[in-house]
Amino acid sequence: MKDSSSNHAPIYIILLGAPGAGKGTQAEVLGKRYGLAHISSGDLFRENVSKQTPLGVLAKSYMDKGELVPDDVTIKMVMERIARPDCARGVVFDGFPRTEAQAQALDAALAQENKKIGAAISIQVRDQVLIERLTARWICPACSTVYNLLSNPPRVAGNCDKDGSALGQRDDDKPETVRRRLDVFRRQTAPLIEYYRRSGFLRDLDGEQSIEQVTAAVVNIAQTL
Ligand code: AMP
Repeated sequence: MKDSSSNHAPIYIILLGAPGAGKGTQAEVLGKRYGLAHISSGDLFRENVSKQTPLGVLAKSYMDKGELVPDDVTIKMVMERIARPDCARGVVFDGFPRTEAQAQALDAALAQENKKIGAAISIQVRDQVLIERLTARWICPACSTVYNLLSNPPRVAGNCDKDGSALGQRDDDKPETVRRRLDVFRRQTAPLIEYYRRSGFLRDLDGEQSIEQVTAAVVNIAQTL
């Protein structure tokens, strides 16, 4: 695949990885570089939570506990999202699918339009490193810029570099919820690695390298599609 100025058949890339593996960071890069829509199911839920929609109220009750939102509502939300015009060049999925039922629903929806996944990139990071990263993650409530106190701190402690807002932590980045989310990942989402390996789309990469090295590896994979 060439960059966003070229024409290519729609491409669908899945970023698979535990919370804190760096899916969001890499999805943003891929989206911009190749003109793909970046779909984060977590962001879609958080938008619904902040607007207090019925979906948001339901989702919040699971998110606060670090559990997965039920498949039927998650699948419906993402399917509606991929039908929007900005997905015409393709999509990079960040945090979806997270269960085998979601993966099958995505395969079926793409197959209906004679499309298929280009790659499922598994970004691997050990739990101990994930816990350190997630508990150090701070976000600007105004512009959503993500900081990490260890690897990418703001210039002025506690304030956003772009707009000066006071940074906050995601409720689910608090230590007990982080542990629960990692548990849920190992039990419900990690089996998808084998699911995509069986279908031949899986690409593994070491997510403990620097952000730039992970980006280079992800871009290398995307170039082959
Ligand atoms: P994330 O921002 O991807 O870490 O997602 C935050 C939370 O949103 C998760 O802990 C889940 O409660 C919920 N969530 C996000 N994506 C999904 C999904 N594909 N399936 C079920 N729940 C999800």
